Amino acid sequence: PPRIVIAGAGHAGGSAAAFLRQYGWKGGIALVGEEAHPPYQRPPLSKAWLKGEASAESLALRPARFYAQQRIDLHLGIRVTGIDRAARQVQLSDGRALGYHRLILALGARPRSLALPGAGLAGVLALRGTADADALQAALGPGRRLAVIGGGYIGLEVAASARALGAEAVVLEREARVLARVAGTALSRFLEAQHRAQGVEVLTGVEVEAIEGEAGSVRAVRLRDGRRIACDTVLVGVGAVPNTELAEAAGLDCAGGIVVDLAARTSDPAIHAIGDCTQRPLPLYGRSGRLESVPNAIEQAKQAAADLCGRPPPQPEVPWFWSDQFELRLQMAGLAFDAHEAVIRGDAEAGGFTVFHLDPEQRVLAVEAVNAPADFMAGRLLVAKQARVAPELLRDPARSLRDLAA
Ligand code: FAD
Repeated sequence: PPRIVIAGAGHAGGSAAAFLRQYGWKGGIALVGEEAHPPYQRPPLSKAWLKGEASAESLALRPARFYAQQRIDLHLGIRVTGIDRAARQVQLSDGRALGYHRLILALGARPRSLALPGAGLAGVLALRGTADADALQAALGPGRRLAVIGGGYIGLEVAASARALGAEAVVLEREARVLARVAGTALSRFLEAQHRAQGVEVLTGVEVEAIEGEAGSVRAVRLRDGRRIACDTVLVGVGAVPNTELAEAAGLDCAGGIVVDLAARTSDPAIHAIGDCTQRPLPLYGRSGRLESVPNAIEQAKQAAADLCGRPPPQPEVPWFWSDQFELRLQMAGLAFDAHEAVIRGDAEAGGFTVFHLDPEQRVLAVEAVNAPADFMAGRLLVAKQARVAPELLRDPARSLRDLAA
């Protein structure tokens, strides 16, 4: 019987295997993953898991028995080392080859590394998998001092978790504000203030020049302006690089990610690609981009599984993302490309607020909510509908957003 091979057993790959069965695929499914674990969720690794508040079972994407029940063959601890498109087979790190009728690449991304003096010292860490999270957790506690290079979501979440574990934390950001790449100014400023109130030192507009050590272990981070930030652990959180090497070597179109369409098809009709490793269309915004989120991994897993089972592609979704820091629940939807105006509803002092990003025609492009789940849900609908709404209406607490979105 024909077999689908899924290369990469992370959130996207694991979800694709499940959707294939749900949509009626009767042939074989082989899920090949480099990590030793069946597919698991990464979001808790910087949040609940790091703080010791989540069990190993709660990380798993599906219970262990699911794979046998669904006839999904797991090949774990095994790397795909090559793709032979002509022979339709993948080479594995254990020397075997696995033939495929269709191949799904779900290879994810890896932390970007910094080519800095001292980057190889003990105590300089990155965070992608459970082993990374365990090493980080062991380094955090009372009397410890963490320096986070990069004020992105992962860096901020780890700084917040470090405080919860009793460690000191300092965030070093090169841009003028944290989250400069992914959030609006209001949200950045709010989070900087929250982190400072919780005892995190936040330095923006600073460039790291070197990491300094003693006897092979990190002792400080040196900034270009000459300042020396003492620490015993460094987390490098400066973004992720898509794992495109296998696809490039096989001659698939790649451009900052493996290029796919809305059915997750690559430039080879026998190969799909999904998740963090892809460059995908963003139909709401008339361009393409690479999304690094669980909702995107699931959406593209559905696209690939639907296509492979002869179903029509699912309706495109609004990109969305969440983050937890301290007692804050952040939810973001849409992308603020070409945003013209930011409208704030609610009151940060009172606990919850939402930022709407509008284009010059007052179309809602994106929404960012802090402890405001109902406004987030309504805002996401406004983004999906590309609704045009006057700022006064969005700002007016007496107006129901649900009615505006209806
Ligand atoms: P991955 O989950 O990375 O899976 C790819 C898998 O492929 C990996 O297991 C990798 O080892 C394997 N692999 C790579 N190359 C090969 C090969 N050659 N052969 C075999 N296997 C291979 N998203 C959110 O939406 N909300 C959050 O709050 C959030 N928090 C996050 C916190 C952390 C600390 C991290 C690291 C990520 C977070 N994300 C969050 C992002 C989210 O986890 C990713 O977008 C998601 O995991 C992407 O799924 P994926 O399957 O594409 O990649």
